Amino acid sequence: MKLYPLFADLRGLPVLVVGGGSVARRKVAALREAGALVRVGAPRLDTELANLVEDGELAWLPGEYVPAWLDGMWLVIAATGEREVNARIAAEAGERRILANVVDDAQLSRFQVPAVIDRAPLTVAISTAGAAPALASRVREALERVLDHALGPLIALAQRHRAGIAGRFPDLAQRRGFYGWLHDGPVLKLLRRARPEEAERVLLDALDAGAEMPRKGSVTLVGAGPGDPGLLTLAALRALSQADVILHDQLIGEEILAMARRDAERIDVGKRCGGRHVPQERTHELMLAHALAGRRVVRLKGGDPFVFGRGGEELAFLRGHGIDCAIVPGITAAVACAAYAGIPLTHREHAQSVCLVTAHGKDAAETLSDAMLAQPRQTLAVYMGVERIAMLTARLLAHGRDPATPVALIENGSLPRQRVVAGVLGELPRLASVHAVGTPALLIVGEVAAFAREHAWFGTLVADQPMALPELPCAEVA
Ligand code: SAH
Repeated sequence: MKLYPLFADLRGLPVLVVGGGSVARRKVAALREAGALVRVGAPRLDTELANLVEDGELAWLPGEYVPAWLDGMWLVIAATGEREVNARIAAEAGERRILANVVDDAQLSRFQVPAVIDRAPLTVAISTAGAAPALASRVREALERVLDHALGPLIALAQRHRAGIAGRFPDLAQRRGFYGWLHDGPVLKLLRRARPEEAERVLLDALDAGAEMPRKGSVTLVGAGPGDPGLLTLAALRALSQADVILHDQLIGEEILAMARRDAERIDVGKRCGGRHVPQERTHELMLAHALAGRRVVRLKGGDPFVFGRGGEELAFLRGHGIDCAIVPGITAAVACAAYAGIPLTHREHAQSVCLVTAHGKDAAETLSDAMLAQPRQTLAVYMGVERIAMLTARLLAHGRDPATPVALIENGSLPRQRVVAGVLGELPRLASVHAVGTPALLIVGEVAAFAREHAWFGTLVADQPMALPELPCAEVA
């Protein structure tokens, strides 16, 4: 079966929906949005429909379906839930040459209602001619993700200025260029932030500047999450699909980079401990140079850009040079690793607070405050701690943390090769070395870490048995 796709202008036309339940309610809503004069026929109505009738917004034909309801209708939707009644409606509508749809019954339907992505005035409709409704809704979900929610207002704005744009750019190539700028540039960004007046101002300024308009570059600091591409946000995905240049950390996986625009330039500015690496100043310069050249730069970082990611320094540097900046937060390693190891970071009985610390760089573990380390009922999440584990453990113990405090080391959190090593604080240095825990790994210290032993649900769990203590002669036991 091949269907003829059709977008109908139903404004002011009488249409009929038969049925008074939740399915009918959805159909009524969509038809009303399209401006149709809707009548609903049913013995009873659900509350929302009944309210509409009471407010005079909807005409109700009470009772069981009779063919006379079809008189004068342009189309009809049968949503009674009773196949026999639906079949009669379809047949009698057919005799009168009224287009009929029977909900969830492609066989009986003369027209079908597609799955829709609504960015009015942009509407994307999807149909599999009834063959695979589940697939249609998956396609719909995929498109929902990539079509910006600000597209509707953008199209409406562009429509208002269409004549002006055509007048300013009579040349087709130039006009295309202008629309390209309009469709994913600063105007869209302002609309996303619900600032329609400013967006219109920028559009008008650009029209004034005409072809001389320099394209303004920008930098978006984007958090890519801990590794699992599924943990990328929609905003991150959109930023990636619009970027001209991507400066990424070394830890960012190929699967995530593959979501970027195909022709985007990629630059690995990954910082390797030891070997060759791009110094931070160089990263600053690169971002600045590309933005000044009018490109849309994405600075893609693991986790969240503002959690041990030097995002703060980059933002200040760029804004200091007058560059347009935006930040897309990401799921930080502590949050992701805890979730993927079955460890609740807070818990009514065991932990009232969470402290994110790093055992590396400027805030090295040596300088962690006593209060931070000794705080009871607090979960510590330690980033970049593997190399400093012995020192960190010694400090925690010196501050009175019980050697029996549960700990978990989560290596490659959220990735298929994730490994959780669970044990106790007193044994932490041994755990890390015996199990050869490598980077990236996150350390969780606190009562909640014990959850991993029972509830780790992803990757591999290594539940370390505390080493048997040497048997002491009775006399020596105090
Ligand atoms: N901005 C990042 C942190 C960067 S610091 C964020 O918000 O997550 C790098 C450290 O983060 C690593 O040394 C490690 O401790 C931690 N980390 C990042 N990704 C990780 C992962 N997938 N599994 C475990 N730890 C991770």
